[in-house]
Amino acid sequence: MKKNNWQTVVVLGAQWGDEGKGKVTDYYASQTHYVVRFQGGNNAGHTIVHNNKTYKLHLLPSGVLHSRNKIVIGNGVVIDPEVLLYEMNKLKKLGKKVNLLISDRAHIIFDFHKMLDMASEKIQKKRKLDAMSTHRGIWPVYSAKTGRIGIRMVDLINPVVFKNKFDLLFEVEKKKLQKVYGYKGRINKQEIFKKYKSYASKLKKYVIDTSLELNNGLDKGKKILFEGAQGAMLDVDFGVYPYTTSSNTTIGAVGTGAGVSPQKIDRVIGVCKAYLSRVGGGALPTELIDKTGELIREVGGEYGTTTGRPRRVGWLDLVQLKMAVRINGLTSLAITKIDILNNLPTIKVCTGYKVGSKVIKEMPADLTVYNKAKPIYKTFKGWGDIGKVKKYNKLPVNARKYLEYIEKEVGIPIRVVSIGPERNETIIK
Ligand code: GDP
Repeated sequence: MKKNNWQTVVVLGAQWGDEGKGKVTDYYASQTHYVVRFQGGNNAGHTIVHNNKTYKLHLLPSGVLHSRNKIVIGNGVVIDPEVLLYEMNKLKKLGKKVNLLISDRAHIIFDFHKMLDMASEKIQKKRKLDAMSTHRGIWPVYSAKTGRIGIRMVDLINPVVFKNKFDLLFEVEKKKLQKVYGYKGRINKQEIFKKYKSYASKLKKYVIDTSLELNNGLDKGKKILFEGAQGAMLDVDFGVYPYTTSSNTTIGAVGTGAGVSPQKIDRVIGVCKAYLSRVGGGALPTELIDKTGELIREVGGEYGTTTGRPRRVGWLDLVQLKMAVRINGLTSLAITKIDILNNLPTIKVCTGYKVGSKVIKEMPADLTVYNKAKPIYKTFKGWGDIGKVKKYNKLPVNARKYLEYIEKEVGIPIRVVSIGPERNETIIK
């Protein structure tokens, strides 16, 4: 592991997503040659504020705002071609150059995947999973992928292969839609086929073996930023299952979703808010359902980038954060939105859970246990207003005490402290 002279850096969400990864990746992107997405699809949402302009991206990596970057959509990403073309056009109109490379192995989201996502809502509502889905067709496309009937970019751009694979996929998904989910609406095979053929002709020139490109780039000394979407607790394996997303959002996904060996990773940065928020159901022990929670939601703009839904907010949970540090092997933390806690009289942080008479310090897989978890808090004095300081030692002493407690508890350093949405509101420690 190279400490100072890094060639590869991974930026991951250390909580439930929406931690402010967009801003942190945008900062690191200015120092790299490639910016790579490796999991998820346009269910992600990054907001980057630069020179008073706000850019909202769902599929393209945040690094796209740096014109020297090659933007890579890795094989682990699922692609809605309509959204991809829309985002590319939007950026081109804003005068941004998009040097895009798309993995030939990335899977394609079709209209009927989005229909399936919506049609399955009734069942999800019964399981109180309703607020989870962004209706972008993400779980149906990952389901087709693991069911081995999915269509990859390389298949889409080959007319003969596409026709054959489309026939099979369409029949299976149509049956699922109508027979399993009781879909009664129209579904026109030829229309969808024609539309996706036209997407293929527009995207063909970007499609390559991106794993090869990235590994060749590394051999030539190029720097790579891997940009995670969502967060550790939404990981389909390690998150609060089934209140998760449909992909792995943790470090292993870099290997499987970009085709770059874990041995080549130098730094793994976890992005974490000074408090927490999440979208969707499931237990959230530190949730604030009170005036303080409302205040944090309003001041923090805690409404989904993709859906506009209000997010649930709560105090920082170190049980959860320690797990994110461990499973990802995080080498440092970037703490964002510390300014949102300005002027609160006290700030709490959860150090463990009480479940009945027991104290637990690890996230349980068993939701019947997690549902009963009551947070144990350590309370900190507020810090007033952080202001626009540029140096760590100029932060109010109470803010530093809070940050240094987090560092000590999770056992890794905080290298970045974000005190506002703008690029220059970032303190590097
Ligand atoms: P992501 O999905 O992890 O990139 O997070 P989002 O983009 O959904 O949410 C982060 C939001 O917080 C965006 O609107 C950012 O502009 C904003 N943001 C990021 N860092 C800070 C910060 O330190 N302070 C404040 N006030 N806003 C921030």
